Amino acid sequence: MTERTRILLLHTGGTIGMVPTTRGLTPGAGVVEAAIGTLGKDRGDDLSVDIVRLDPLIDSANATPADWNRLAGEIVARAGGCDAILITHGTDTLAFTSSALTMALEGLDKPVILTGSMIPLGQQGSDGWDNLRDALAATQSAEPGVWIQFAGKLLRGPRARKIHSSAPDAFAAMLSDRPPRREGAVLRQHLFEKTRIAVVPVAPGCDMRVVSFAMEHSDGVILRCYGSGTVPDDPVLEAGLVRAADRGIPVVAVSETLAGGTALGHYAAGAVLLD
Ligand code: ASP
Repeated sequence: MTERTRILLLHTGGTIGMVPTTRGLTPGAGVVEAAIGTLGKDRGDDLSVDIVRLDPLIDSANATPADWNRLAGEIVARAGGCDAILITHGTDTLAFTSSALTMALEGLDKPVILTGSMIPLGQQGSDGWDNLRDALAATQSAEPGVWIQFAGKLLRGPRARKIHSSAPDAFAAMLSDRPPRREGAVLRQHLFEKTRIAVVPVAPGCDMRVVSFAMEHSDGVILRCYGSGTVPDDPVLEAGLVRAADRGIPVVAVSETLAGGTALGHYAAGAVLLD
């Protein structure tokens, strides 16, 4: 394996670099930078880490598709000058960003490693030190593609989700053999457009007028169904689906379950989705 000595670190924010305030944790400047310096002295290798701090640093709860565009743009612009990319990011939407970057970066031929932490680097017992150290190691070992390094595991970026809100082992990914990258001859960026997407879950007894509203006012709807793709037989939901079809907007049925996907039409309950 060739050694990748030039590492680009894009710091976006998140708990890993946060500091306490009277209103709760908030991103602080210089925290991740200082930790990288400390780790560099400990390692004693010849990795050079070029740190770019995105301005403003954010709690990833505030991330939008515009932030994905910006991050992908930074990677495309700077990829020629580095061998691997490390991204420090808040954990709440880290898995969304890793999926988005996988789709945005066609022809990615370097590893992009996302990490963060559940406890800030400056606090006792922070998992950030191990995660940062492991993520730096992953820049050397990972295949080209988008990965999440967290709690000792290297996970495929587009397959992962946050599964725990407080424990250090906060991420899991569906098993897959597929490389976490979008094939292409040259690196090029696909932009996310400004669209109004609604994510609507069904639940027993829920008011389907919420679904109707989404079908009427969004540019596309992700309908989170039960199991293999069932939904309640409900005239309001059906009318909403008809309206979406009339408006020509896509409605994507996904399953609330963690694995297995959907098989629309397997049950009569949910046949309306096929119609
Ligand atoms: N709210 C934080 C964020 O997503 C949580 C974290 O980083 O662990 O930025």
